[in-house]
Amino acid sequence: MSRGGSGPGRTTLTDREVPGYLKSLDVGYETAFHAEVVALPPGGVLLSTTLFYPTGGGQPCDQGELVTPEGERIRVTEVEHRSGAIVHRVSPGLQGKLARGMSVEGRIDWTRRYRHMRAHTAQHLLSAIVFRRHGIPTERARLGGTGGSLDLVRPLPTGPSLKETLDEANREFFTRPVPVSLAFVTPEDFAREPGRSSAARLPQGLSELRLVVIQGIDRTPCGGTHVRDTSEVGRVEEEPALPLPGGGQRLRFKLGPPGRDPSVPTPPG
Ligand SMILES: [Zn+2]
Repeated sequence: MSRGGSGPGRTTLTDREVPGYLKSLDVGYETAFHAEVVALPPGGVLLSTTLFYPTGGGQPCDQGELVTPEGERIRVTEVEHRSGAIVHRVSPGLQGKLARGMSVEGRIDWTRRYRHMRAHTAQHLLSAIVFRRHGIPTERARLGGTGGSLDLVRPLPTGPSLKETLDEANREFFTRPVPVSLAFVTPEDFAREPGRSSAARLPQGLSELRLVVIQGIDRTPCGGTHVRDTSEVGRVEEEPALPLPGGGQRLRFKLGPPGRDPSVPTPPG
């Protein structure tokens, strides 16, 4: 991507600004980075580079703080895509501590980020198991709090279907390390792949798709942050499913205690 136009409403991400976690799952484990302040729209901050995840794809944004050279800590309350740029929302009262060209350290709230990583990988896996067992695609997914939900286009068969899905996920995936990785493919190649995700529903005009791959079971286009292997999810627990208008069904899950992960960094600060 390249910066297009000069007005503030037309800023788009440069290659340097594209968050590193889009290129490598390992970068999702980094919680601190240095950047330069490039613009200060009302209540917001644009940085030369960022590791903050902006709200999107059903995944809530990261939160954290920006630290100035003088040691002022400015809370980042919300991060969003706006006209192709990533805008970090900060308290308007503290925005005056920042200036264009200033070097800052970004620090990400790791507890929140890691919960989203675990929940996102859990959701992909549950969607994959539901599709493999019942042929039902997930239309939409949402993460938040301590879990997430999957909206199915039609309900699971009545009976123990949901419990069986969660049992399979906990037994076969969340308690042992099945690798999670990224793959980059053209939309044309992806359209030829069998699987739960339809190429027809993807945005048009992309030259490359980022797939999140759970080895042996799932390849899905996604721009979110994920864990490196399924054992990091730990366990998922059932929440009551809800009927959706139009005949679909919302499956809901809650994260249990985290799995073993020796690589989890110490939270900054
Ligand atoms: Zn996803």
